[in-house]
Amino acid sequence: MLVAPLVLGACSGGAGGSGAAAPQGDRRMAEALATSATGSGAFVHLRALQDVADRNGGNRARGTGGYEQSVDYVADTLRRAGFDVQTPTVALQSDDGDDGSAPGGTTRNVIAQTRTGRTDEVVLGGVHLDSVPEGPGIDDDGSGVAAQLEIAVRLGADAPVTNAVRFVFFGAEEEGLLGSQAYVDGLSPDGRRDIALMLNSDVIAAPNGGYFVYDGDGSDGSNSADGPPGSAAIERLLSDRLVSRGVPPRGTPFVDDSDYGPFVDADIPAGGVFSGDSGTKSAEQARLWGGRAGVPFDPCYHQACDDIDNIDRPIFDRMVNTIAYGIGAFAVDLNGVPPRSERAAR
Ligand SMILES: [Zn+2]
Repeated sequence: MLVAPLVLGACSGGAGGSGAAAPQGDRRMAEALATSATGSGAFVHLRALQDVADRNGGNRARGTGGYEQSVDYVADTLRRAGFDVQTPTVALQSDDGDDGSAPGGTTRNVIAQTRTGRTDEVVLGGVHLDSVPEGPGIDDDGSGVAAQLEIAVRLGADAPVTNAVRFVFFGAEEEGLLGSQAYVDGLSPDGRRDIALMLNSDVIAAPNGGYFVYDGDGSDGSNSADGPPGSAAIERLLSDRLVSRGVPPRGTPFVDDSDYGPFVDADIPAGGVFSGDSGTKSAEQARLWGGRAGVPFDPCYHQACDDIDNIDRPIFDRMVNTIAYGIGAFAVDLNGVPPRSERAAR
């Protein structure tokens, strides 16, 4: 796909302009990216992932042809958009190692970064590229992959950003966050400090879904721990965007069940949106968001029916918009997330 690079109408001036000091960073990049990266654009990538599964026995699990072709699709799409792309092979190790469940073997992550922006204030978007063996993994996590790929293509490799944006597509999430754990483990201390924040997108279009934002400030639920310092600012920015799109978000705790886990463990601020997966929608949530109470957010979670029909398009559209807005906003200004100078001790 050939896409015109993101161009801002009036890029100079910005936050340092002569107007009254804005309480938040310059949001023109965020608005521009959220306008150009759309759910329908991302849906093209979802169809491609479904096609990959259809050609490979109905799934895209780590270690299969379906996974390798998913890697190739994402890498090729990013390269056509002008990115330099790496697909490092990583060795898999279980981080608990208590039950001999570590699969061993290897997988590939896919990594692409803008050539522009500060490389010591990296805004990292993370999704997982593998499915479970039981199905094609279109909501989980084709939805996040497609959203992130659409955003990367629309942003472009030479976007006028202040902070570099790094897009990572992790392998082996479904076997215990192994691709993301290997990625974080492979960073030097400086490399960890260079990451300002991590935005996770995993299951963002469940057919009976809702609008959750990871609980960066520890305010949601009695045992919800807050994230590393800066996570509250991420939650606030994403929540405000959803409100502005007409939906009331709710917090969801960090429970170490997606690729934000290794980043949070490394004290890297994290956040993101989530539509719900195996949990059951409550009566209150059904009143808030529509859909059916007493039914799982995603009735096809980790099953063969998690296919291209298992996507709620209005939810997908709003989530893609919100993620694009978040990446665009943080790429220009850290919006309250601690800068490099304040994370020397990490
Ligand atoms: Zn997932």
